[in-house]
Order: sequence, then C-alpha cells, then structure tokens
Amino acid sequence: MAVSAARIDLAAIRSNVAALKQHVGDPAVMAVVKADGYGHGMVESARAALAGGATWLGVAMADEALALRAAGIDAPALAWLLGPSDDWSAVIAAQVDVGIYAGWALEKAVAAAGAADRPSRVHLKVDSGLGRGGVQPAAWHDLVEAAAKAQADGSVEVVGIWSHLAYADNPGHPTIEAQRHTFEDALDVAARAGLKPSVRHLANSAATLRLPQTHYDLVRPGVAVYGLSPGSEVGDARDLGLTPAMSLTSRVALTKRVPAGHGVSYGHRYTTRREATLALVPLGYADGVPRHLTNLGDVSINGRRYRISGTVCMDQFVVDVGDDAVAAGDDVVLFGNGASGVPTAEDWAAAIGTINYEIVSRVGARVPRIYEGAP
Ligand SMILES: *Cc1c(COP(=O)(O)O)cnc(C)c1O
Repeated sequence: MAVSAARIDLAAIRSNVAALKQHVGDPAVMAVVKADGYGHGMVESARAALAGGATWLGVAMADEALALRAAGIDAPALAWLLGPSDDWSAVIAAQVDVGIYAGWALEKAVAAAGAADRPSRVHLKVDSGLGRGGVQPAAWHDLVEAAAKAQADGSVEVVGIWSHLAYADNPGHPTIEAQRHTFEDALDVAARAGLKPSVRHLANSAATLRLPQTHYDLVRPGVAVYGLSPGSEVGDARDLGLTPAMSLTSRVALTKRVPAGHGVSYGHRYTTRREATLALVPLGYADGVPRHLTNLGDVSINGRRYRISGTVCMDQFVVDVGDDAVAAGDDVVLFGNGASGVPTAEDWAAAIGTINYEIVSRVGARVPRIYEGAP
C-alpha cells in the first residue's frame, strides 16, 4: 500500500449532496466535478454525487465530459468551457450539453450537430456582471435570435440559460441583486424570441446555500459537494451540514535526534531551539503541500498537531516533534475533516491566504486516491 494517499470519503460526498438537495427543494442539483472532482477523483465523485441525489453533472472541459461518458456515466451533463479547437462533435455525439458563452461557440454547436447527426443541446450564457465568460447583455439579443433560428432549423436545442455570480460568497453584496435583474432581463429577451429553456441556472455553492432567490430550476454546487464551505461569510462547513470528504495522509519516513541550533531544510528557515527529534514526511509541493506553508502549516502526527518546520520541498518536509515518541511509519494526517483536531483544508488555506478550493484541487497526480465509504 502506498505510503501517502488522499483518502476520499464517498459517504461524505453522498450525504453532502443529499443535504444540498434537501436544502434547495425542487430545483435539480448539478454536481460540479471539474478539475478531477476538485482533486477528489472525477468519476468516483460523480457516482457518489448521483447516488446522493444529484441529477446533473457539470464540468469545464471537453475531455472531462468525454471521460465521464467513457466511464459509463450517462447522467445529463454540461461542459461549459469548450474552446475553438476542441472537438465539439465528439462532445455532442457523447450526448453532453455545451455551454455557449460567445457567438462563435453557437456556430461550433451548429456545425457539431451536422457532424454528430443530432441537435446540439446548448445552454446560453449571459454575462450578468461577473465579467468572465458569457455574452454581454448588449450582444444577448443577437445570440438569442441566432439560437432561436438554429433551433427552428433543428440544429440546436436550447436546454438552458445561465450565468454566474461574482459575489455569491458575500451574501449581502449589492451585485447579487443587480446580476439577478440582468439575468431576469436576459430570460425575458429569450422568452420573447420563443425560447423555453427547461433549466435556468445561476447558483454556485455559496448561492445554493445562502441565496434561494438564485436557485431557479437548477443549482451548480461544486466545493460544497466535497464538504467544504465556499467562504467564511457563508458559514462553517459543519454548521452548513457538510463533511469534508478528503483526508491527505502519509507516514513518517524517518526520524532522528539533532542538537539545539540545527538548521532545517533549504535555507535553514527553521532552527531547532533545543535538542529535538525531527520527523520527515514524504509529501511536498509537487503533491499539493503549498510551499507557502513553510513554518505556517500544521499537520497531525499520531493524533497530535505540529507545525511544519522549515521549507516545504518538492517531495518532503520536516516537523520538529520535540521529545515526543515519533518513529518511522507513524501516522500523519496533513489535513482531514477536522474531527479530533486534525487540520482541515480550510486551516491550510487560512494560514497562507488562499481558499480551500485551491488546497484540495492541487493535490498532485502522484498521490493515489483511496476511496472509502462506497455503498
Ligand atoms: C466551478 C463552477 C461552479 C461551482 O462553483 P463552487 O463555488 O465550487 O460551488 C459553478 N458554476 C461554474 C460556472 C463554475 O465554473
């Protein structure tokens, strides 16, 4: 068995999705499984999310959508970030819906319908204010007219109209209502052009949890599926009924006694104050332990919390465990669900000024995923 692993609690993913579904009521839940399921494994996470009550899957890239289908997952799925050089026909042939976030993308979808010999199922995206993907309101009417014409020709089916929020994690922010109004206007324009999308969608995790006025027909939670809070203003994961699904674990590779005043790791950014035992943990920044955690991040060894001592290297880091009885082979939990005091991805993120999303999604390909809690 591998020394280090990301242990993925599939029961937690199922129960997180069930909690989100219960929270929203009627709207459908699209579990977002892009970026290898935020590092948790895309296919396994998708299956667990479907078992928990999600009825849609969301991904960014064409290859992600095709990998879901190759694994035999045939649930409705949306891929929202196909580029000009992607194989649109392959995605349409795989019965995956595509996000249309620019005029050229509609042309790609129309052409793909011809090649795949079926209408392309599309979700038209308006930029309601995020300033990222989506068509500006000024260009929306033209996109809608072109989509209505393509639908009349039988080359596309407009399944969805959607947008994305800039400040969902800041529930009182005025841009939320402004974006919602722009979205409503976009829906009106589409209705006047005769479009009747079956799913209108706007809500990410934060909006799913805190902004019911943004739920419409479908919500798109990502990070909450994996049991993480989308932001401190949204709430604590536990209070939100979420259980973090990933634990990053390892085993001590080596321990040794060193004298007081011994420099530790590159640049000697840590020096022992007393004679001490140093424990070496065989995971580093190539595995997703941020180098910024140098002297800032905590890990748990044998159930006790310690600070990382000195520079995090590519493959390893060191922990000064003082006079504690730590030996090679002992258990290390780098982060986990917070039970019994182990650090969380949230703790790591807070220590270095980033978000928990980045901590879990950057766990490296070298770290095997071990799945627990399968039904
Ligand atoms: C990633 C993403 C989501 C999920 O966001 P979370 O904050 O993880 O819930 C939803 N919609 C779009 C368009 C996304 O890119």
